[in-house]
Amino acid sequence: MSLDLKTKLDKELKDDAEIRNLWLEGIHNRDHRQTFKKINEFYDFIIVGAGTAGCVLARELIYNIPNINILVLEAGPPNIQVNDIMRSPCAYPSVSRTIETDWGYYTENQKMPGIVDPTKEVLNKGINYSRGKVIGGCSTVNAMIYTRGQKADYDLWAAQGPEYKIWDYDHCLEAYKAVENNTRKSPDEEFKKYHGFNGLLYVQDGQNDFDDIIKDVIKVAKNLGIPYNNDFNGVRQNGVGRYQHTMKDGKRFSLADGYLTDALKKVETYPPSKPFDIGSPHGLSDNAAKFVAVNVKSFAHMLNIIWDEEKKDENVAIGVKYFYDGRVHKSFIAPKGEVIICGGAFNSPQILMLSGIGPKNNLEENNIKVRKELPVGRNLFDHPSCCITAKVSVPNSTSTSQLHYSSSGLELGMFYKGDIKGKVPSQEHFLDERPDIQFHASTNLLDPVARANAKSGKKNDVLTLVSTLNLPSSVGHLELRSSNPFIHPKIFLNYYEKPDDLYLMMSSLKLSREIFKQPPLSTVWGVESDVDKEMSDEDWEHYIRKKAFSSSHACGTVKMAPESKGGCVNHRLQVYGTKNLRVVDASIFPTIPAGNLNAPTAMVAWKASILIEEDYKNKA
Ligand SMILES: Cc1cc2nc3c(=O)[nH]c(=O)nc-3n(C[C@H](O)[C@H](O)[C@H](O)COP(=O)(O)OP(=O)(O)OC[C@H]3O[C@@H](n4cnc5c(N)ncnc54)[C@H](O)[C@@H]3O)c2cc1C
Repeated sequence: MSLDLKTKLDKELKDDAEIRNLWLEGIHNRDHRQTFKKINEFYDFIIVGAGTAGCVLARELIYNIPNINILVLEAGPPNIQVNDIMRSPCAYPSVSRTIETDWGYYTENQKMPGIVDPTKEVLNKGINYSRGKVIGGCSTVNAMIYTRGQKADYDLWAAQGPEYKIWDYDHCLEAYKAVENNTRKSPDEEFKKYHGFNGLLYVQDGQNDFDDIIKDVIKVAKNLGIPYNNDFNGVRQNGVGRYQHTMKDGKRFSLADGYLTDALKKVETYPPSKPFDIGSPHGLSDNAAKFVAVNVKSFAHMLNIIWDEEKKDENVAIGVKYFYDGRVHKSFIAPKGEVIICGGAFNSPQILMLSGIGPKNNLEENNIKVRKELPVGRNLFDHPSCCITAKVSVPNSTSTSQLHYSSSGLELGMFYKGDIKGKVPSQEHFLDERPDIQFHASTNLLDPVARANAKSGKKNDVLTLVSTLNLPSSVGHLELRSSNPFIHPKIFLNYYEKPDDLYLMMSSLKLSREIFKQPPLSTVWGVESDVDKEMSDEDWEHYIRKKAFSSSHACGTVKMAPESKGGCVNHRLQVYGTKNLRVVDASIFPTIPAGNLNAPTAMVAWKASILIEEDYKNKA
């Protein structure tokens, strides 16, 4: 940060602090005079985080388990702020960078030995890492691409032991179909095998015709021998084609829109024969009825789990402590209840660690008492991306399509296998049915470095080809920086620690360069890329590290696996060494699926709801 910016920020923070003190004084004053006192509320289930997973879970539990009540805590604002501007797909690039609805994560700088020349040290500079902090979580801010990964991804999860069979592809496919409401017109029989039409998550095919230049990218891809694929979520993933999107009528459709909205419709009292206790709608009383409903609190930041101190050795979760409207609140679970953490891949591990569950050293460094030692925060998977941007000398239709509300600029996708030696992939790679590269072509400027430096109005005379490593071998981790629940953990992405990752990315970028050189892109459009010169492998490594950005697909940090294999939760997503505590979100993925993660997370939550329901009904 430049000195000028730092001085400006320091001044702003000082001014803010003055107002914050006035606000605190107001809270103090109010609560001394307030006649309604803070009460300890009781719920059957407390769900922490109203993101992709939390929304699905709340809806499935409230409708499937009779007479329960649920508290959903969300640190971010309500999604009534998510107006039609935020729902317009063309607004996606700004929506995911909105300070009010983002956690503001920044990853750690990492030095490591180079891959091409291990005698030289290379730097992975820290990057901004978007995470939705709003009702709907990342599904409210994401790029809306609907893909699920490949059959082999889930069969790998299931291979961890006989009890993990419930996570094989066939079982997961059933859940995908249950969640999905696909609106493809006249789907054929093949399509119907893989898609659902009655779920609450709307999925639609792209609405617009492609830009002319994007049509030409498809032509080039076909000329290179890349097969056309009209369903990346069908029998095979490889090929070039059009993405499906989580949209309805051309607008963003989040899991909050589909699931939480529906969950909130259910409001009853139980038992009907008893009077409703006006003073404490969520109290635990034998003499009064309770609300059978989902109670959502936004701007409610969970601090840590409350444990039963009388059963110290058993680590029994009995409630949660959270910061809300300037005060610390406590909510508890009723008998048979559970605390379910759905905070996402960075926050769920942080919450566990703040509650004493995690790696011993890191907890002790932060003066947190260790209740259960588990490798929480390890196994951080992500999909690293990189792109090549080309200037386009012939005007294309970008500006009009960008203004079209139903275009996110990410309509064309391609999946293929990279070459492990870093060469341009060949026909054989394009036909491989375990692709490890995902590719987008866009007329938006997606390179974060170039974007930051672009002069306004000049952003769109470009063609960007993005490559993403979908099955990376390098694994990162996160650790607590502080026991302060408002301070972000340290995130180490560890991109390109393993040689295969670097060479696969190199291979894909070389293919992008070839695509730019092909007619009609080179002849009709005058496409000129920024990496036209000859580049050594070392140059490529430098380029890839410098331009690295994330697809925002963090996962795996509270791994579902046997405890002896580094697991933190079992196959039913219960946290080892604890009672009444589960984690349900992208952090439980044992390995990363080879596709975008919104749909897989919703799928996991839907399956989790069945496991929770079974366990609830089996409790005495
Ligand atoms: C910019 C961006 C683009 C993406 N593009 C795509 C895409 O095109 N397609 C796709 O499939 N996937 C995409 N993803 C990824 C996908 O959306 C996420 O992987 C998925 O939504 C994760 O779901 P989750 O439930 O695990 O976490 P989240 O959706 O992040 O939900 C976690 C929720 O918990 C809340 N929370 C966290 N801590 C606390 C706390 N202490 N107290 C209370 N609440 C808390 C958070 O505010 C958040 O609302 C994208 C993600 C981003 C950020």
